[in-house]
Amino acid sequence: MITDKWNRPLRDIRISVIDQCNFRCTYCMPAEIFGPDFRFLEKDELLSFSEIEKTARFFSELGVEKIRLTGGEPLLRKDLHLLIKQLKNIKGIQDIALTTNAMLLPKYADNLKEAGLDRVNVSLDALEDEVFKKINGRSVSVKPVLKGIFAAKDAGLKVKINMVVKKGMNDDQIVPMAAFWKKEEIPLRFIEFMDVGSTNGWKMDQVISKDEIIQKIRDHFPLEPLEPAYFGEVAKRYRYQNSSAEIGIISSITHSFCSSCTRARISAEGKYYTCLFADKGFDLRSLLRSTASDNEIKQQIKAIWNSRTDRYSDERTEETAKNKKKIEMSYIGG
Ligand code: SAM
Ligand code: SF4
Ligand code: SF4
Repeated sequence: MITDKWNRPLRDIRISVIDQCNFRCTYCMPAEIFGPDFRFLEKDELLSFSEIEKTARFFSELGVEKIRLTGGEPLLRKDLHLLIKQLKNIKGIQDIALTTNAMLLPKYADNLKEAGLDRVNVSLDALEDEVFKKINGRSVSVKPVLKGIFAAKDAGLKVKINMVVKKGMNDDQIVPMAAFWKKEEIPLRFIEFMDVGSTNGWKMDQVISKDEIIQKIRDHFPLEPLEPAYFGEVAKRYRYQNSSAEIGIISSITHSFCSSCTRARISAEGKYYTCLFADKGFDLRSLLRSTASDNEIKQQIKAIWNSRTDRYSDERTEETAKNKKKIEMSYIGG
């Protein structure tokens, strides 16, 4: 196990497999910026499957046990199930998860499960069509997303729902979403609207805090807090009384959790980041494409983690939120 300057172990990696997406969520890839002229990465700018496999293997040899694939929309990456098969064969990798908007799950869920995928987190921010259509920027209704979620469940994948909450955008959907997923007994994670990237126009007064979310739900359903399931668990979890259903809140803004952050990130163009809010990443792609030996690459990955001091959310101010340059969410994947 390797640790950073604050003694945080390196336990998991998030790999963004593509920067493109079939949605234009207003808080992530606003359509005004990610329009028809936006230049997405070319195929050879993305890491190839064998480069991703190699990267994941080096990280696993350094102690990583969990991999999450993300994007952009990861299911737009052709033949993703083949990558999952390769990752599943890496000794030491115990868990492979995918974050997706679910549009392509009806088509791919069985394939993904068969390839070795363990879990999916599906992003769904509203149950009411008019609200959801505005958020996703593509006028897509809720129905195909629900279809994707139930396809994943039927395929035998573990499923969680992610809901970003932003004031005036979907705060009226908190209770309907809680009630719906409680009944389905599928865990729901609320995510405070974050100041990722530089294009989503984040303002503090648009954040609905963890405490406000909990109170809104408590007004309808009694909740009891749960202990963290493992060190570094990001969501604070609660169970509904007299039910096995649960919710979680990811409160990067109002209750930061940098002291237990064990996660490295690989962006779509193969840069290695040690924080979601970083502006600079290490160019792993060039190293992978150079004559460096496996051991040299691994030592470089290790050295970067060893010197890590990131704690952006602990130190966030209105000034850094507004003016600090940060990588876009569609490159780094959340
Ligand atoms: N396209 C996939 C999806 O939406 O699930 C995967 C990539 S998306 C960037 C990963 C996660 O980041 C999603 O759950 C999304 O809701 C979340 N996200 C994006 N922008 C965010 C923001 N500004 N604040 C909080 N969460 C955000
Ligand atoms: Fe696409 Fe996911 Fe970002 Fe929405 S949150 S624009 S689905 S990458
Ligand atoms: Fe980890 Fe950076 Fe988020 Fe803190 S702000 S929890 S260091 S990713």
